[in-house]
Amino acid sequence: MLAYIGLGSNLESPEKQLPRAMQTLQQLPDIQLLRSSSLYRSQPMGMAGQPDFVNAVAKISTDLYPMELLAILQEIEQQHQRVRTEERWGPRTLDLDILLYGDLQMHTKELQIPHPGISDREFVLIPLQEIEGDLVIPGKGSLRELIDKLPAYQLTRIATPDVGAQP
Ligand code: ADP
Ligand code: MG
Repeated sequence: MLAYIGLGSNLESPEKQLPRAMQTLQQLPDIQLLRSSSLYRSQPMGMAGQPDFVNAVAKISTDLYPMELLAILQEIEQQHQRVRTEERWGPRTLDLDILLYGDLQMHTKELQIPHPGISDREFVLIPLQEIEGDLVIPGKGSLRELIDKLPAYQLTRIATPDVGAQP
């Protein structure tokens, strides 16, 4: 199954957290990392006064079921010592979300696929476009259409994909 993972961080050197998380994904036996986007810097949504976010998207291939994949992503978040707070969209060292899982649509309390934020978040849509321009988001339309509907980009590309060391 092909799936897309959204990565985000705004604490403890995000520019290093994200490539490390990509590397971890690559090393897992049940996941093949197929492509990774550049890193992008964006303004935080929600809670003001927190550092800018760095975001990226990874394309993977996996035999894991969605809930198994979510459990593994949450383990990786833990390894990166993400401190969970009550604050939604608060600062975090690493956030890993399942954006898409094949053309599956599911809406349970634990897992919503496609990820509910996908259609209006530039920090998801632009990196997705970089690695898969022709995507169709199940239930939401083509990636191109969704990008055309974005207000104005405030996203800056800060590094090209490189799963290994960063410059
Ligand atoms: P957020 O990503 O919304 O900022 P969290 O990372 O703390 O917040 O996620 C909260 C919960 O969102 C997780 O415990 C998970 O069960 C749920 N969730 C629902 N859909 C998804 C998804 N597609 N990917 C990752 N988590 C999801
Ligand atoms: Mg999350």
